[in-house]
Amino acid sequence: MRLVLVGPPGAGKGTQAEIIAERLGIPKISTGDIFRANVSGGTPLGLKAKEYMDAGDLVPDEVTNDMVADRLAQDDARDGFLLDGYPRNTEQAKVLDGILKAAGTVLDTALELVASDDEVVRRLSGRRVSKSTGKVYHLEFDPPADPDSDDLFQRTDDQPETIKNRLKVYAEQTAPLVGYYEAQGKLVRIDAIGEVAEVTERALGAIGAAE
Ligand code: ADP
Ligand code: ADP
Repeated sequence: MRLVLVGPPGAGKGTQAEIIAERLGIPKISTGDIFRANVSGGTPLGLKAKEYMDAGDLVPDEVTNDMVADRLAQDDARDGFLLDGYPRNTEQAKVLDGILKAAGTVLDTALELVASDDEVVRRLSGRRVSKSTGKVYHLEFDPPADPDSDDLFQRTDDQPETIKNRLKVYAEQTAPLVGYYEAQGKLVRIDAIGEVAEVTERALGAIGAAE
């Protein structure tokens, strides 16, 4: 299956992507994770992306599209993939359609995770990540064993001012994607509120992959 996840920052895309990709046996490709790994590694790509990420703005399309095209060209993505965090505007969606067309294939489904601003602010504010494992926790909803551990960090873009800008960027640039995929008959929308496992079942049911 070739699937993209759409939804505001904090809707639970990364959390669900991990589980759904594993259940479907397809690679999870998260552009935010790839950018963050490049920033930590101090690569040229990371240097280009960092200032945009810190501000909560989108990294320019040229940089992002090339990175995704390279990733999708890898063997493990040939028979299916789950894209998390890409596309993030209509231009990127068109580029993705072009990449797939050139490879003789098409996207199956765009899964939208719907959550209110209040809920995503709560989720982003409490998000903590383990340095050693990359696992994503939430102080209240999925608490780590030791919330004061040095192993945990808060993403720089999960600060209140940056969260505000990310929500604005989502509304202005990413939300129009929903209409783009609706027009293609590929949009599937689910409520992202509820326990993680409950949202996963809803998602699998909606994309027709329930076991
Ligand atoms: P996104 O990738 O959309 O930004 P994440 O998957 O990182 O979102 O989730 C944001 C935060 O919300 C994380 O701290 C995560 O643990 C928490 N979270 C994810 N799904 C749920 C859920 N169903 N209920 C409560 N908290 C959740
Ligand atoms: P979120 O929790 O907001 O869903 P992500 O981890 O997907 O966050 O993205 C973090 C940041 O990485 C974004 O705010 C943006 O700066 C950059 N980024 C990730 N994916 C893209 C993309 N497809 N296009 C442009 N910038 C991106």
